[in-house]
Amino acid sequence: LMELYMPLNWFGTYYRAIQKNFVDMENMFDLLREEEEIVDAPGSSPLLTAGGSIEFSNVTFGYSPEKLVLRNVSFTVPAGKTVAIVGPSGAGKSTIMRLLFRFYDVQTGAILIDGQNIKLVQQQSLRQAIGVVPQDTVLFNNTIFYNIEYAKLGASPDAVYEAARAADIHEKILSFPESYETKVGERGLRLSGGEKQRVAIARTLLKAPIIVLLDEATSALDTHTERNIQAALARVCANRTTIIVAHRLSTIIHADEILVLKEGNIVERGRHDQLVLRDDGVYADMWQQQLKNLDSDQSGSDNGDAG
Ligand code: ATP
Repeated sequence: LMELYMPLNWFGTYYRAIQKNFVDMENMFDLLREEEEIVDAPGSSPLLTAGGSIEFSNVTFGYSPEKLVLRNVSFTVPAGKTVAIVGPSGAGKSTIMRLLFRFYDVQTGAILIDGQNIKLVQQQSLRQAIGVVPQDTVLFNNTIFYNIEYAKLGASPDAVYEAARAADIHEKILSFPESYETKVGERGLRLSGGEKQRVAIARTLLKAPIIVLLDEATSALDTHTERNIQAALARVCANRTTIIVAHRLSTIIHADEILVLKEGNIVERGRHDQLVLRDDGVYADMWQQQLKNLDSDQSGSDNGDAG
């Protein structure tokens, strides 16, 4: 019985962790293929992507009917542009990502990609169009090669190396005991948070989706790692429609639009330079707060990224 119980228990734990924290949704779907409650609409056709524009139109959603998590949320991300979502914990940021991936269906309103309601297209094609760089990437107990190739099984070794190079992890992998054949994951070589995030970036580069969802890591990485990751992230987002859930505002200064979410409502929106100027603005407050924290953290470092 124990043998049966253990994996199921692990599965449940994993499932809840993912639902809660938006960890690695892409893997999740593969693992839970049979358990999906969300099914393709009868006669649905594949998503036809053009530039990958996203529209949330009056989206209202709650995990249970009596507690709404998003209320009348409307925004658009034009093809190839970047929208950042910020706001306090529990505001509904990750929920927006989950809905876009059609983890759940909206109660009212609609989510459109290139004009097509995601509820009415084949899920497989929807997920093919979206790449996710989660906060915390789940690695398989397999080689590092497989862990990157996973995004596009059957990809050529050169394509995998190329993705790893662009994600700034190729050199690191070459330094592993068995290079690309090194086993990673729980039972293999443990990778650092920054390395795991790079694996996720490499996967997404290999997948080459039209839309990228990025969940910025909450835990601060050291300045050097951070800078390299930012460069790799910029590569993965280039020419793709991008939604970033941001924790450090310094990373979204150049976003085309910033949405400030609070208790499921968009309370402010605009570009960074507009939002910081608002009297009593939620964003302006958050910005001031981060500058203060930066001042107190920064003992002699010359990194002026956030200034
Ligand atoms: P954080 O910055 O802490 O990640 P967030 O803004 O991403 O927060 P969400 O994860 O979207 O917030 O959660 C919004 C609300 O929905 C919270 O009140 C949360 O407790 C609730 N919630 C999230 N996932 C579930 C779930 N699977 N079932 C029920 N409630 C949930």
